[in-house]
Amino acid sequence: DLCFLLLLIHPYLLTKLSFLPPAWCYHKPSCNDTTWPTIAAKYCSGTRQSPINIVSASAELNANLTEFTFQNYGDTSILKKILNTGKTVKVSLGSGVSISGGDLSEAYDSLQFHLHWGNGSSIPGSEHTVDGKRYPMELHIVNSKSTFNGNTTLAVKDSTGLAALGFFIEVRGQPASWNTLTSYLANIRNRGDSVSIAPGISLDDLLVGVDRSQYYRYLGSLTTPNCNEAVVWTVFKDSIKVSKDLVRPGHPERHPAWVLGLINARIPGGQRSLACISSRIATVIQVTLERSKEP
Ligand SMILES: [Zn+2]
Repeated sequence: DLCFLLLLIHPYLLTKLSFLPPAWCYHKPSCNDTTWPTIAAKYCSGTRQSPINIVSASAELNANLTEFTFQNYGDTSILKKILNTGKTVKVSLGSGVSISGGDLSEAYDSLQFHLHWGNGSSIPGSEHTVDGKRYPMELHIVNSKSTFNGNTTLAVKDSTGLAALGFFIEVRGQPASWNTLTSYLANIRNRGDSVSIAPGISLDDLLVGVDRSQYYRYLGSLTTPNCNEAVVWTVFKDSIKVSKDLVRPGHPERHPAWVLGLINARIPGGQRSLACISSRIATVIQVTLERSKEP
């Protein structure tokens, strides 16, 4: 009996559907960031949204912004797994990696890092910009207050529950660490694919050449839904310099845009609604802190 079957299936499907996360995307008009406030109304059109354009002339020195201590960033077996989430390439980190100092209220556990990118040629894909300059790519290291013991569901309910480190990536160098890391991309071409990372490269290796005492600080949000305003943002002035093959289509199998077929930067302005743009300007005013270089 078809009606009987429908009665059985229908409540089940409803239950399943109600547990599906809301659909969002970067570039389809039906689900791009102009629609995110309808998914997560509480935050995505809020007043401390990220990313922002950092106006360097508005940044002020703040003596509280001391150097960070990076715990186990030199450990060459701490990069555990690389995953294609369908939205980004995410590398999970082993336990015992953390940051402290830098005017953070306590130590924060480093949980994962991921990348944001453009199309690898004409469209740059960093999320933050400095004085309007957009870099080819951006690396985000996501850290969670140690109090929460890795539970990010709890961390996003705290206005400073997460600390994100943002590093711009541009073309001008050829660190072996990035050649190694991007060599894994060809093995995770489908959403959900993941592979283990062999020991050999550390976070320090990937952050090579960056003076980590020079940074901008502001209070912001996750840059993807639900856009929770729970993030202490640190954006480093120095960029990571990688070879042009990694950000341009010389070796497309090394570029995440080729692997995922995606441009995944939340780029305020342009396609965003006026409400979002005005909230962005409000947030820019909060970018007033800049670490001074010690003599
Ligand atoms: Zn990110």
